[in-house]
Amino acid sequence: MHNLLYIDGEWTGEALEKLLVHNPATGELISEVPKGGKKEAVAAIEAADDAFKIWSKTTAFERAKLLKRFYELMIENETELAELMTSEMGKPLSEARGEVHYAANYIEWYAEEAKRVYGETIPTHDSNKRLQLWKKPVGVVAAITPWNFPAAMLTRKMGPALAAGCTIVIKPSSETPLTAIKLVQLAEEAGFPKGVINIVIGSSSEIGEALLLDSRVRKVTFTGSTEVGKILMKQGSETIKKLSLELGGHAPIIVLDDADINRAVAGTIASKFRNSGQTCVCGNRIYVQSKIYNKFIDLLTERVRELKVGNGMAEGVNIGPLINKAGVEKVSTHVSDALEKGAQLVYGGKQPSEKGNYYLPTIIKDATNDMLMMNEETFGPVAPIQKFETIDEVVHLANDTPFGLAAYVFTESISNGTRIIEEIDFGIVGWNDGAPSAVQAPFGGLKESGLGREGGHQGMDEFLEMQYVSIGI
Ligand code: NAP
Repeated sequence: MHNLLYIDGEWTGEALEKLLVHNPATGELISEVPKGGKKEAVAAIEAADDAFKIWSKTTAFERAKLLKRFYELMIENETELAELMTSEMGKPLSEARGEVHYAANYIEWYAEEAKRVYGETIPTHDSNKRLQLWKKPVGVVAAITPWNFPAAMLTRKMGPALAAGCTIVIKPSSETPLTAIKLVQLAEEAGFPKGVINIVIGSSSEIGEALLLDSRVRKVTFTGSTEVGKILMKQGSETIKKLSLELGGHAPIIVLDDADINRAVAGTIASKFRNSGQTCVCGNRIYVQSKIYNKFIDLLTERVRELKVGNGMAEGVNIGPLINKAGVEKVSTHVSDALEKGAQLVYGGKQPSEKGNYYLPTIIKDATNDMLMMNEETFGPVAPIQKFETIDEVVHLANDTPFGLAAYVFTESISNGTRIIEEIDFGIVGWNDGAPSAVQAPFGGLKESGLGREGGHQGMDEFLEMQYVSIGI
């Protein structure tokens, strides 16, 4: 496998300073990758800009064929991709395999969707004119991605961008460049022409600035923290870039007295502990109505005790290491803050040992609004639970945040569920469902959780421009 940058159809960057990639489970050095900067970013933009002139003129059927082949290669390379992902970011191998399929499905789905980009004929107001709406690829796309889903967050952008006829410059997280490089290698093998896909790894501020300030880049699609999203939005304003921002979340899980409690516990486990709590849609705060409060905590604790912590490569592990030491420190700070402010520790609450970036799955009860974990992303395996009495109260608690990505509601009552969902401001809702993501559905947040949608036919529109044409006849 290459561990280089890929610009204009060449694997390059051997002479550059190196970025070290470590395994978060063992601390072991697993690879060295060239550390690119402004020069490499500009070369990649030039290549993508040149390639756009040809790629944008290919037919949707030609693009779909290459995307289909790329999808097949991802599936054929499932094990290698999954092992790479587990070794560079820690998630259990079974989850990494699941991500490979989820990621590949974005490519397959957009291969099909490429053939369904329709324009419009608009009724005319003048018998001597014909009015039409044409759709065109937006141009060169810059895609900046995070470490928590190193494959899926990338293909969710590559799929629609390439299907629409755009070319792309990828900048993956410095924590997880290897999965991204492998994906680009598979795309090369599938036969995408030179310059259509480029990958630059290295200094995020330098590469980011080069991508955001260059007028040849017409679209920036970013998944990551709200903090960085705000920087990109400011930089993008210089050249009025089209922007999609998939940013941080702070998902509430709302469990009503009339919930099916087993379903609510299973949904909470699925939402909260996947990827060791490091997903943007992870339930971050759990509100349980008073009558089932104690029973819910007992059942959840029973299930959480069964979760096995360890190296993601080992059989049966459910909770892998956190991405790095800073991740562990953030979780520890949130837990100590909650305990100092009066919450009760039910289970976990510490690292199992000094070695590795592990943190035990943790349950905290009697959480209150003033605690850090009830106000910002913990990004770790911690489930804080707060008691509530009325629907009005829980709607207020859920909405009392600048974030609006995902929310979960557990109730068997159609009227209670409908009422709550209508009143909460979140872009994605799982109703009796702890894992709502699907490639064919639009994914994205409200408020400071982002702009635009990925997935679904809506995800394709993000990479298309509309051109209105009035034809005099
Ligand atoms: P991050 O620190 O914002 O980094 C994301 C990407 O941005 C990385 O490639 C990073 O590169 C790059 N970056 C950092 N500073 C930059 C700058 N000044 N200019 C340009 N690029 C810059 O986020 P993360 O820690 O990787 O990911 C976790 C966050 O992502 C969480 O907040 C999570 O909620 C969010 N997320 C959101 C979604 C969603 O769909 N809404 C999905 C997954 C994750 P380096 O690594 O090289 O610094």
